[in-house]
Formats: sequence, C-alpha cells, structure tokens
Amino acid sequence: MRTKLVVGNWKMHFTAAEAGAAVGTFLKHVEAKASVDVVVCPPFPSISRLRDLVRDSHVKVGAQDVFWEEKGAFTGKVSARMLYDAGAGFCIVGHSETRGRFGKTEIPDSTLPYFQETDETVNLKVKALLFHSINPILCVGETSEERSVGKTDDVIRAQLFKALEGIEPAELYFLSVAYEPVWAIGTGDTCDPAEANRVAGLIRKLLAERLDEDVSQVIRVLYGGSVKSANAHDLFHQPEIDGGLVGGASLDPLEFSRIVMSA
Ligand code: PEP
Repeated sequence: MRTKLVVGNWKMHFTAAEAGAAVGTFLKHVEAKASVDVVVCPPFPSISRLRDLVRDSHVKVGAQDVFWEEKGAFTGKVSARMLYDAGAGFCIVGHSETRGRFGKTEIPDSTLPYFQETDETVNLKVKALLFHSINPILCVGETSEERSVGKTDDVIRAQLFKALEGIEPAELYFLSVAYEPVWAIGTGDTCDPAEANRVAGLIRKLLAERLDEDVSQVIRVLYGGSVKSANAHDLFHQPEIDGGLVGGASLDPLEFSRIVMSA
C-alpha cells in the first residue's frame, strides 16, 4: 500500500517571510498527519527557512529544479549538493515550464529558448539528485496538440524512458512520477479522472517494463494539472493515482490543507 503524497509547487511566488507565513497557516489547518506525505517546493531562497519551520511537523521541503554539476563556473545554477545542504529532501525535475512547454503562461517567442530543458538534461538532473539522496519528482506530460493527434502514450513513454536512462532499478525506490498534461497546468482544465488514471496506469506499466515489478509497485504516480479541493478527492482516489502535484491552489494555505485532507 503506497502512502499518498501531495506536493505544492509554489513556482516563483512568495518571499521567505511569505512562505513561512503560508506554511504556518497550512500547519494550523491541516488535519491529515501521518497518513499523507506533504512536500512544499518554494523558490530556492526560502528552502532553508522552511526547513527550520517544518522541522517538527510531517511536512517536508523540496526544490523546483536543480543543476546536474557538483560545482564550478555555472553562474546562476544550484547543485543537488547545495539543495541537500539547504534542507531539500525532494526536487521537481522536468516540469513542463522548465521544458518550455507552457499551459497558460504566455512567453514572448524571443525568450522561449531560455526554457530549454531536454530529456537529456532531465536525465542528468535525476542522476545528480539520486547521488545526493534527494527524491526526484519527475514530471511527464503531453501538450494539447500531441493529445489531439493521439501521441499521448508515445510522449509519456519517451519522456519516462529517457529520464531514467542508465539508472539501476534499485536506485529508484524513492522516485515519484507526476503525470502533468501540459494543457491542464494553470488552465483550470483538469484531466478527466478516469483518463488521468489510465495514464497513471500506463506509467506504472512502463516502469515495470523498464525497471522491475517490485520497484514499479513502490514508486508513487501523482497527477498534476489544475487540482483544487473540488476535484482532488475524485483524482486522488483513482486506483493508479497516489496523490498530486499542485501549483496554483497550493498558494492558498487553506485550500492546500483541504486538498491534502482529501488525500
Ligand atoms: C504545476 O505547476 O505543476 C501545476 C500542476 O500547476 P497547477 O496546479 O496550477 O495547474
């Protein structure tokens, strides 16, 4: 039986003081304690502050991205070693926004090349995180164009297999995979729970094929894309879905506590 996991992706929101206030309010209201694992992923500068604030609670802190090298002349980058030191036990990797595949946010075409995550860099990041015992939360998902031409399953397969290339099954017990259809992220357009469950089941089947049956049964498969308290219960209680990756709705601590409690 896999423990449910609910992850809040705070994206580029909240100063350290605001992040601290949000987590304080969340902790006052949330009732699910040991039965659900909760992770909040603030921007880099707030990680160590939150680590101190949640120390005596069931909430863990994660990061939203990482760079794969240990150290060096990589201006602006943050390594897995630094994340571990700051207190991140989890890290989102391969989010569609870092891949330059935006659901709603409008980015001028001229700046799109800035968001250049590829399957190869996702793979390097997963390896760097595992080396430092940080649990990766690997995001995979198709765009609306890919879905409309029937490519959903191919995209999921390619993203998953490339992200895990060269990694031994035994290293992946603490991996989580988030199915995040790009068209559902920040759009209010949630994936139908039965379809989200079908894709989560496909992910588990692919994990069994690529890794082994035991590991595929332990890895948590999450759904992400416009989760809110009104739809969380239906999504999180699908047999193949082990919780959620929540963006916008996790910024409101009361709403986030309701989402966690529905898990
Ligand atoms: C996300 O950013 O991973 C996400 C799922 O966002 P939202 O919940 O806002 O759709």
